Amino acid sequence: MSTDLRSRAWVEINRSALHRNMARVAGLVGGGERVLPVVKSNAYGLGLGSALRVLERSDPWGYGVAEVREAEAIRTHGVTRPVLILNPLPPGDVHAAVAGGFELSVSSIGEVDRIVETLDGSGRSVRLHAEVDTGMGRAGFDWREVGRWGPDLIARSSEGVEWTGLFTHFHSASDPDADAMTVQSDRFATAARALSGMRAGNWVEHLCNSSALFRSSGLAGDLVRPGIFLYGGGIGSDLPAPEAVVSLRARIVLLREVPPGTTLGYGATYRATRPERWATVAIGYGDGLPRSLGNRGQAVVAGRRVGIVGRISMGLTVVDITDLPEADVRIGDEATFLGRSGTESISVDEVAGLAGTISYEILTGLSARLPRLWSSADEPDAPDTGIQ
Ligand SMILES: *Cc1c(COP(=O)(O)O)cnc(C)c1O
Repeated sequence: MSTDLRSRAWVEINRSALHRNMARVAGLVGGGERVLPVVKSNAYGLGLGSALRVLERSDPWGYGVAEVREAEAIRTHGVTRPVLILNPLPPGDVHAAVAGGFELSVSSIGEVDRIVETLDGSGRSVRLHAEVDTGMGRAGFDWREVGRWGPDLIARSSEGVEWTGLFTHFHSASDPDADAMTVQSDRFATAARALSGMRAGNWVEHLCNSSALFRSSGLAGDLVRPGIFLYGGGIGSDLPAPEAVVSLRARIVLLREVPPGTTLGYGATYRATRPERWATVAIGYGDGLPRSLGNRGQAVVAGRRVGIVGRISMGLTVVDITDLPEADVRIGDEATFLGRSGTESISVDEVAGLAGTISYEILTGLSARLPRLWSSADEPDAPDTGIQ
């Protein structure tokens, strides 16, 4: 049994940076009780339990997730705050969602009726948030038709249904040039006015993801729903950058000196053009290092940036270390693919850009086989393991 969690490839998570990103959001909106941190997909790949332990310190309103199993997982960590399932429920999950006592978002009268049917005189009640589609299109009641569905919602205000919230989601909040946010806000306000009769004691309205909350200076709605900013992903070129939270590192397992013409990797897409030195690193696309970084991406080895050469394999990646002093690199040394190493650092947004995707996909793609090591910058020698 291998007990050294840093023996091959691993993810490091900076607990204090996560806390400070959360505190920054809370500060902007006037307190943690106005924040609904989104922790779907295992807290964007970081590890749910350890992320919750950090976020709990800011005393948030509750947590947002995508589906019922994630909501149940939050309860297994002993968190009793509201948990809102943000996505429409597959019919097969309605029973568990109601039984779990989670807050549910609804986008259609059919969903509301399935939920009411599930309650079926059990004496239980359920808190619902109606999503308004103001342009995102994937979910929500159409804002243009509020005159039609609004009265239907109001009519279902008994039978254990408690209308708790109204929300929408912006489609282009990270884009500095888009005026779509104003358009969507106005549409949401129109729907909210038409539904003002539903507002009761616990009523909350929420619109903003990470970029939208900074773009609106935290002023829109009662709650905000940050995700990526907390976990260190950029939210737009003109908006504040979060502190980096995640690093991805792996060990060098082989060093080779090759003559010109030597081919490398599947498809032999790389060929040494001079006498070269290559380091084989024990990480690959099976760990979530995007295969599209082959012949494009970089790593930091011995404090210097080096290029990934050839195609990335499932568990191995080769970097060209020809330009590093020979004595600087040994088998067993670390290569950093994400995060800081010495004075160099590679951001999750840089990696995402090279891989043709977004930071969200990079973070959630870090595979389960990578140990998650949580440490704090203030206590670098006391990591704990937050493996999910
Ligand atoms: C994922 C999600 C968020 C968080 O968005 P970020 O861009 O990560 O801040 C907020 N609201 C909803 C409805 C989501 O699905």
